[in-house]
Amino acid sequence: MSLIVQKFGGTSVADVEKIRAAARKAIRAQKQGHRVVMVVSAMGKNTDLLLKLAGDISENPPAREMDMLLSTGEQVSVALVAMAIEDLGSKAISLTGGQIGMKTDDSFSKARIQSISTERIERLLDEGNIVVAAGFQGIDDDLNITTLGRGGSDTTAVALASVLGADACEIYTDVDGVYTTDPRLLPEARRVEVISYDEMLELASLGSGVMHNRSIEFAKKFNVPIHVRSSFSDTEGTMIVAETESQTAPVCGAAMTPSESRVTVLGVPDVPGKSLQIFSAIADKKIAVDMVVQNVGDQGKADVSFTVRHDDLKATIKAIENILPLIGAHAVTFDDDVSKVSVVGVNMAQQTNVASTMFRALADANVNIQMITTSEIKISTIVPRSQASDALRAVHEVFKLHEKPTDAKSWNEIREARTENADIETLVSRLQDDALEALTLTGISLTKKQARVTLRGVPDKPGIAADVFETIGKAEIFVDMIVQGYDGVDGSTSVSFTVNESDLGKSIETATAICKKHGMRDVQQGKGISKITVSGIGLRSHTHVATVLFKQLTDLGINVEMIGTSELQVNAVVQSDKSDSALDNLKIAFQNSLA
Ligand code: ADP
Ligand code: ASP
Ligand code: MG
Repeated sequence: MSLIVQKFGGTSVADVEKIRAAARKAIRAQKQGHRVVMVVSAMGKNTDLLLKLAGDISENPPAREMDMLLSTGEQVSVALVAMAIEDLGSKAISLTGGQIGMKTDDSFSKARIQSISTERIERLLDEGNIVVAAGFQGIDDDLNITTLGRGGSDTTAVALASVLGADACEIYTDVDGVYTTDPRLLPEARRVEVISYDEMLELASLGSGVMHNRSIEFAKKFNVPIHVRSSFSDTEGTMIVAETESQTAPVCGAAMTPSESRVTVLGVPDVPGKSLQIFSAIADKKIAVDMVVQNVGDQGKADVSFTVRHDDLKATIKAIENILPLIGAHAVTFDDDVSKVSVVGVNMAQQTNVASTMFRALADANVNIQMITTSEIKISTIVPRSQASDALRAVHEVFKLHEKPTDAKSWNEIREARTENADIETLVSRLQDDALEALTLTGISLTKKQARVTLRGVPDKPGIAADVFETIGKAEIFVDMIVQGYDGVDGSTSVSFTVNESDLGKSIETATAICKKHGMRDVQQGKGISKITVSGIGLRSHTHVATVLFKQLTDLGINVEMIGTSELQVNAVVQSDKSDSALDNLKIAFQNSLA
């Protein structure tokens, strides 16, 4: 008998009528012959209310007590949903995280799932119950209640679907699927029929709050198809699967995180080991860092900038201030009036001019880009918060995201191809019973014969990045990584990019012309460099990946020249002379995580 997991988010159980409607959906599925597990979130805005209540009592509530408090939201709704099902004449039983054996680690408010025991759920299903499980919560080894992080009920649902071997995981929410960007921000956004795990993972972690990013890590690891659909209608929504909608469109979606913060550590001694000190202090707090940019410094000093979510800013600044003397840096500054606007698409890796197209659209909208980082399937920019909506609209428009790509495949076409090719392998062949959410790496590799070009003293005004990368594109130079960041010296920025070593001469010539044209300070080059790539799933949320990477490089006395992170890869650009040893050491350091 087939098994379906149905997850209902807060708005889908916000009042009595909605609770009854959710109950009816589950009963209908059961009557159609499925075994049904429901995962339910706290009613409406209950979690926000509980957070506010805690804030009114204490400025710094203990993390353990916070999780104890927040978990009550889900406990209320599972009981009410089970009552509604019984009232409608079917059998149901509600279970807390502890009661479904959802074991997590002990990082309160960001707990990771270690294992789930399925016996009790299976037995209750066998007895004809609809099992109503509380989302978002678990217990640690000491039976303390933990929570998985905001939006974490999605992760509960996909995790349950994985361990129960469910045939489908349906996410019922207040939109009828995944859109090319948040439809509340841009009404012209288009609902997509299919989106790939990799793209959804990246979009979710860059601000598309429709799915919790860690739920997609599970889905990809265990190959669980997810159906995101409306709880208020019966129309089909969006399938999140391994396949992409289009084979050619460079961008599948755009995302914005309105409340981002830039942090800059000024005057960091330009010697190996400094990045390690900075980022391990932050990783210890389980804070995910994004958009790391290190400027090539003068007089042996560099500025290291990165972005964190606004909610994490206070803890980040505190962590850095504590170690400023240890690092030997001057000061730490921040700007919390910025937003991050990103585009994502697996096809962009094979195409040129995607970045310059985005930068041109932003320039035409008169948006000043303060920071840029790229990775194989995403481009992120930091812009002033007041311009974030204009920026999002401009990039959505330039990549024609409101139009269906001409080669877009429907879910039916993809489903047929999947049936013909029924043995799709899961990435993780064995379920790691005691470490479900452990880091999973798929490879560690080296790309040699790279070169770095850096433009310094780049004027901080709209249109410069567009001009730089259009000019480079016209010279037919293929650019791999791009980073642009803050220059502590005079408020200007510096732009670095990598190219094939064979293109270095041409790149320097072009860059020198650009430098003259815009009155920039100078052009610098890095020869004989390599790119180390660590690939896997959910690399950003596993905050220790970058720390382990920095540690291995530091131990060999290697300085990291550029770094780019995404959910799928961490790339570090280093000098080639010791890069082979770095590769060997990294393979040993990560041997337990390699799939
Ligand atoms: P739930 O409570 O059901 O988990 P959420 O509020 O977490 O619902 O997620 C649904 C919301 O996500 C939508 O109302 C929408 O505004 C927002 N959203 C953000 N990005 C996207 C996107 N790309 N596609 C669809 N919805 C999105
Ligand atoms: N109730 C939790 C939250 O609001 C979890 C969830 O809804 O997914 O974040
Ligand atoms: Mg949600």
